[in-house]
Amino acid sequence: MKTIIEPFKIKSVEPIRFTTEVERKIILEEAGYNPFLITADDVLIDLLTDSGTSAMSAKQWAGIMDGDESYAGSKSFYRFENTVRKITGDKYIIPTHQGRAAEKILFSIVGGEGKFIPNNTHFDTTRANIEFTGAEAHDMVVEVGKHPQERADFKGNMDVEALEDFIDEKGVENIPLVMITITNNSGGGQPVSMQNIKEVKAICKKYDIPLFLDACRFAENAYFIKKRERGYENKQILEICQEMFSYADGATMSAKKDALVNIGGFLSLNNEELAMQCRNLLIVTEGFPTYGGLAGRDLEAVAQGLEEIVDEHYLQYRIRSTEYLGEKLLDAGIPIIEPPGGHAIYIDAKSFLPHIPSHEYPGQSIVCELYVEGGVRAVEIGSVMFGKYSKDDGSLISPPMELVRLAIPRRVYTQSHIDYTAEVIIEVFNRRDELRGYEITYEAPMLRHFTARFKPL
Ligand SMILES: *Cc1c(COP(=O)(O)O)cnc(C)c1O
Repeated sequence: MKTIIEPFKIKSVEPIRFTTEVERKIILEEAGYNPFLITADDVLIDLLTDSGTSAMSAKQWAGIMDGDESYAGSKSFYRFENTVRKITGDKYIIPTHQGRAAEKILFSIVGGEGKFIPNNTHFDTTRANIEFTGAEAHDMVVEVGKHPQERADFKGNMDVEALEDFIDEKGVENIPLVMITITNNSGGGQPVSMQNIKEVKAICKKYDIPLFLDACRFAENAYFIKKRERGYENKQILEICQEMFSYADGATMSAKKDALVNIGGFLSLNNEELAMQCRNLLIVTEGFPTYGGLAGRDLEAVAQGLEEIVDEHYLQYRIRSTEYLGEKLLDAGIPIIEPPGGHAIYIDAKSFLPHIPSHEYPGQSIVCELYVEGGVRAVEIGSVMFGKYSKDDGSLISPPMELVRLAIPRRVYTQSHIDYTAEVIIEVFNRRDELRGYEITYEAPMLRHFTARFKPL
């Protein structure tokens, strides 16, 4: 088989700024050893997130010029609505400025004290928006999904038995909806099978609970289904997407992921009553229902992006380029979540740095070193992001995995950028015994990873 190439030519380039290792040490210290606080101009290869970092196509940029900025009933809204509806099949399409705005609106209505929301694995903003209302967010990914080095095709699946037990235990009336995140971002970007979506739907139907998709990477998930699930190998990506959404009663979406734009999101709903409540809240917090916190031009770019994302050549290149980085790291003996997920490679920081315990943040230690070594910015997904303090003795309660995520922006970096990144990671791995843990010196009460400051131990 020949090399899978980038399915595009580059028409516009953005220079990146080089720094020295000495400069980067100072920059990192000034940023309180938190890469979130480093100026982007000081970063060489930015793998902090794949969110809002996509390169838009010529047609999307043309859409930016073509956007209709009418306050109400803009033609860009109708193009957006039709495009989303073609994929989700839902009646009510509500634009929001990004994914968490959709979550905030949805959970303000269905959440609240005494409510429980199950998910395969909640993303951090989803969890925060649920907990902010007083409700509880519960993760129930399948067992294999908790073992980084065990290979399985669909490690993002929800544990359906655990879900049914959970419903029995907490009571149907306290579970306003069940959510499935595709692909499972915090669980390693691992896909969810169609079979699993169907099984979850069957349970939801039995108890009359609506099923929602956190659909940020629906197209990547569909590509994995096509490649790995029997019966889907000859189906079009769009058909697979339509089938996934057909089992759901609604979805929240961050267009900053699989809509290939820099800002945007939406709520897609079938229930009229819920849609009315959401629109009423939208008007207070986001804007009129035909723009919802976005400009007409943004809606145009989202619509175009959604048409491009279901292209199989794009998805083949996308999934293969992530896998390529994963293979390079595995060849060097670096522990990662296997098999590689869709949008990112997740280094298993516990195995990478067995000498640094969770409460000294091994993932944070790796992200700091990657920056110093080569100007590569990654993000910790472990005790910094999801750690909680025990209500009894104030000790740190760590999540099951300590990970470092290298998220790949869509259509941004070429193969040589990725080769360079692998070299930097391997360099750090080769001197891993020298790495030390960190201590937090400042933290906010919620989503602390964004603004926390650290001190090396
Ligand atoms: C990014 C993301 C969100 C939140 O979307 P924003 O656009 O960043 O607000 C929610 N869920 C998942 C799975 C995500 O990846």
